[in-house]
Amino acid sequence: MKAIVSHDVDHITVWEHFAKDLILPKFIVRSNIELLKGKIGPGEFAYRMGDFLSNKWQCIDDLIAFNKQQNIPSCFFMGVNNGLGLSYNISAAGHWIKRIRDNGCDIGVHGVAFDSFSLIMQEMDEFRKLSGKHSPGIRMHYVRRNNDTILNLEKAGYRFDTTEHSFRNPYRIGKMWEFPFQVMDGWVIEKGGRWQTQNLEQAKESTKALINKAFEEKLDYLGVDFHDRYFSKSFRTWMEWYVWLIGYLKENKISFTNFEDAILELESREQ
Ligand SMILES: [Zn+2]
Repeated sequence: MKAIVSHDVDHITVWEHFAKDLILPKFIVRSNIELLKGKIGPGEFAYRMGDFLSNKWQCIDDLIAFNKQQNIPSCFFMGVNNGLGLSYNISAAGHWIKRIRDNGCDIGVHGVAFDSFSLIMQEMDEFRKLSGKHSPGIRMHYVRRNNDTILNLEKAGYRFDTTEHSFRNPYRIGKMWEFPFQVMDGWVIEKGGRWQTQNLEQAKESTKALINKAFEEKLDYLGVDFHDRYFSKSFRTWMEWYVWLIGYLKENKISFTNFEDAILELESREQ
């Protein structure tokens, strides 16, 4: 089994949310509850409030540096449309798409449009213009989709989608590959809550169980999704969990690959 690491970019700045969505009031409520319940300490809370002044809610550079140092290939999914609390504008997206590509990382679409082919196509066209990449991959924001979404993504020309959450090997939908993924930060740290309900040790234990299940199901690829925003002192458990996870995968002799190489491998097996 090989691991494929990817990152969803949900935020770039703090204030992009001001008067556009409810992310900021929800975030303040969440942070206070986490502080009161002892899930985060006063130091971590203070860093979070400091982020309002620095107006920075992405950690892309730091995460790229960590992945490089660890020899981990990664793919960042960037939104080119707004909705469901994804509120950064297209020029900010363009800046980061270029920067991520210049750093040798893969870049794909964090899809917002899910129920209309023409809107899905608009996102694809926008992304192609910004990235120069003709056949990117995609993960839907909040893994949102209906019965037609996947077929429309294929029709739009996506090379792969990695929105499905299941313990299943990658499979084809026409020309597109679906890469189900199994491990996401929020699923093990919030575990069904709207804020952090687990401590680091609990999150590690449930992650180990997911990895064991992937082995039992004889998966060829383990999909890992970590949001870049959490690679920060403001989200200590989340950052420590990711650093631990990379080490744990290495200890267990799981190597790392990227979507492109995995697709080449899958397609060579078909012949
Ligand atoms: Zn998202």
